[in-house]
Amino acid sequence: MKGLLLAEPGLLRAGDFPEALPPGPGEALVRVHRVGVCGTDLHAFRGRQPFFTYPRILGHELGVEVLGVGVGVTSIAAGDRCAVEPYLNCGNCIACRQGNPNCCTQLKVLGVHIDGGQRERFVVPASKLHPSRTLSFDQLALVETLGIGAHAVDRAALTSGETVAVLGTGPIGLTVIQFALAAGARVIAVDINARRLAFCRERLGLPADQTIDSTATPDIAARLAELTGGDFPTAVFDATGNAASMAASFNFTAHGGRLVFVGLFAGDVTFNDPNFHRRELTLLSSRNSRPEDFRRIIALCESGRVDTTPWITHRAQLDDVPDQFATWTDPSAGVLKAMISL
Ligand SMILES: [Zn+2]
Ligand SMILES: [Zn+2]
Repeated sequence: MKGLLLAEPGLLRAGDFPEALPPGPGEALVRVHRVGVCGTDLHAFRGRQPFFTYPRILGHELGVEVLGVGVGVTSIAAGDRCAVEPYLNCGNCIACRQGNPNCCTQLKVLGVHIDGGQRERFVVPASKLHPSRTLSFDQLALVETLGIGAHAVDRAALTSGETVAVLGTGPIGLTVIQFALAAGARVIAVDINARRLAFCRERLGLPADQTIDSTATPDIAARLAELTGGDFPTAVFDATGNAASMAASFNFTAHGGRLVFVGLFAGDVTFNDPNFHRRELTLLSSRNSRPEDFRRIIALCESGRVDTTPWITHRAQLDDVPDQFATWTDPSAGVLKAMISL
């Protein structure tokens, strides 16, 4: 069967792969129809993803069709169209026992730690498949991405009417904005990229004065204070994965507020303890998303409350991906979400 192998950084090639084995007990064999490409894949391609090993079949944002199920599977059946929760967890560790499989101590993410879905067929635990009768394969492949924002917003336990700031409006920041708006928050978006801020205004409906171009507004804290009557946002989400932004975000959060690190980088974040204490901040990280997020997002997309149409900016057929992948890593290409069909 056809697939793509990332042999080493910069070398993605189409090839023939061994056929998938029949599904074992509790498993399902799936046909992959769509694979979304995200920052993790682009970093892996450039050799900048920490803890990544090669060769690897990428692909963790998947829209699939069930071809067959193994013994004991009753939750899904052949023909079902599903989103895949690509977080394979152990089921026994402290995180799993407490209902947080998203941060399992032994977590293996499809397409990151083990081979993923950039191939025609593969076998996956049936419990990781979330079906929908009405969503398209494109929409199903976007559910994982949307889950990142949904879970981050859950972590902050937003309440309707509060003002929040989202730092960084790449794909992850945009998912945070979408779910913060769905929670009834007033959202202020901050980025260095004017084109992305324009997207927030035009496609997500943020008012012009709630988008801050940090290249034109060096004193972000002063601007956030101005926009909140001196209060500062009661929740701040950092989706930049940028050390300087993460350090600065401690100054952007209201006294008694929550600061959520959604993006990450391979290094230390330092902060001034008196500033942290004075504000009595709650600092949270957010990793992946939970099974219930997948079910909730599918329902939100089915009802139209979450609109996925702005997301896909680039498309390619599997065979054409090796030629196009490098161009997607170029910021000037303006890729929000590239979608592979196979
Ligand atoms: Zn991703
Ligand atoms: Zn576990």
